[in-house]
Amino acid sequence: MAKVNLDGKPITPVSICMIGGGGFIGSHLCEKLMSETSHTAIVIDVSSEKINYLLDKSLPWAKRIEFHHMNIKNDSRLETLVKASDLTINLAAICTPADYNTRPLDTIFSNFIDAIPVIKFCTENNKRLIHFSTCEVFGKTIGSFLPEEYRKEPQYYMLKEDVSPCIFGPVQKQRWSYACAKQMTDRLIYAEHAENGLKFTIVRPYNWIGPRMDFIPGVDGPSDGVPRVLACFSNNLLRGEPLKLVDGGRSQRTFLYVKDAIEAVLLMIDNPDRANGHIFNVGNPDNEVSVKQLAELMIKVYAKVADVPASSLSTLDVTSEDFYGKGYDDSDRRIPDMTIITKQLGWKPRTSLDELLDSTLQYQHQTYSHAIKKELAKPST
Ligand code: NAD
Ligand code: UDP
Repeated sequence: MAKVNLDGKPITPVSICMIGGGGFIGSHLCEKLMSETSHTAIVIDVSSEKINYLLDKSLPWAKRIEFHHMNIKNDSRLETLVKASDLTINLAAICTPADYNTRPLDTIFSNFIDAIPVIKFCTENNKRLIHFSTCEVFGKTIGSFLPEEYRKEPQYYMLKEDVSPCIFGPVQKQRWSYACAKQMTDRLIYAEHAENGLKFTIVRPYNWIGPRMDFIPGVDGPSDGVPRVLACFSNNLLRGEPLKLVDGGRSQRTFLYVKDAIEAVLLMIDNPDRANGHIFNVGNPDNEVSVKQLAELMIKVYAKVADVPASSLSTLDVTSEDFYGKGYDDSDRRIPDMTIITKQLGWKPRTSLDELLDSTLQYQHQTYSHAIKKELAKPST
């Protein structure tokens, strides 16, 4: 029997041009599309490392996935591939906080300038666009500017797509260049919709985490590279080093398991009438912790996974300047309001932080512990 969408309409297979589809989120989306749908993926990225396991010609879906090794900055094939697809999903970005300070130009170009042709090609060719924005576009919370006695009220931290203001720090704090570039792209998409009828959906991820996120420094990434917090803490745990808490790990985040998040993206793909014209927060407000609490939880879970005493694992406070360099700023807290996605798509996250850390740290241990043991056994030069 043909699969139907939320309105009972049959789901017809579509071809999806997935820009940045070789990254963390892209790899999970490709896996889902290949194993559970009849859709076709035309994947564009500068690297296929995270999806090579899906590209083997002997796999049953081999005819439904193709990879184009391309940098969208300077490749004229982009328009042809957008034209050849029914839907474009744009995931391409520089989105690692350590890069915002050290590669500010690349950050602005990648999150704004490089997205402009993608949006233009979708408008001109009447193609649907699902664009990945970020929860970071809201910037700092109102709560962080209030006197201490008002700070406990969750309403001052709840971020609503169609209501909340955007509060960015000064130009010298280059974290906000990422937020500002993403914000401009959202506004450009909205303007194309308003003036030229672009069919769009904007996704705002709130700290999606899981296997294949970023890299482990010195194993599948540069040894002096700084990935996002899940990979930083995993790296520390794998090496038996203290987990570094930036400015004491006071900032708070809501963490969403990437596999729950991909269910939401699939609903957007299969329900265009419900998703077009909307901006969706996609997060898990029930999984809120401070970064310090995250570190403590990861220590507890990893000790069980790797069968080592939790007492051998520890945390260490570091200043943001020592860790990221001068000019770093942080988001204090981000709680997604879930009203729009619940109403439009009936989506709810399912996986608790304990469960998602358990499966993710099992993956990290299985994937990396051997390589790290070998590296640590080498005599130092
Ligand atoms: P990622 O870095 O793993 O994936 C991005 C991919 O884009 C990478 O594979 C990269 O090689 C590719 N890319 C970048 N520039 C490119 C170019 N010029 N040409 C071709 N490919 C290019 O990051 P991710 O976590 O998968 O994030 C995907 C999107 O979601 C990004 O837009 C990011 O800003 C957004 N986002 C993610 C999160 C999260 O929780 N993971 C949070 C907020 C926003
Ligand atoms: N962080 C930390 N130690 C690390 C890496 C990150 O304390 O080794 C903190 C960082 O300062 C921020 C939070 O963890 O407060 C989340 O950082 P991440 O890079 O994952 O992304 P963000 O949510 O800030 O975009």
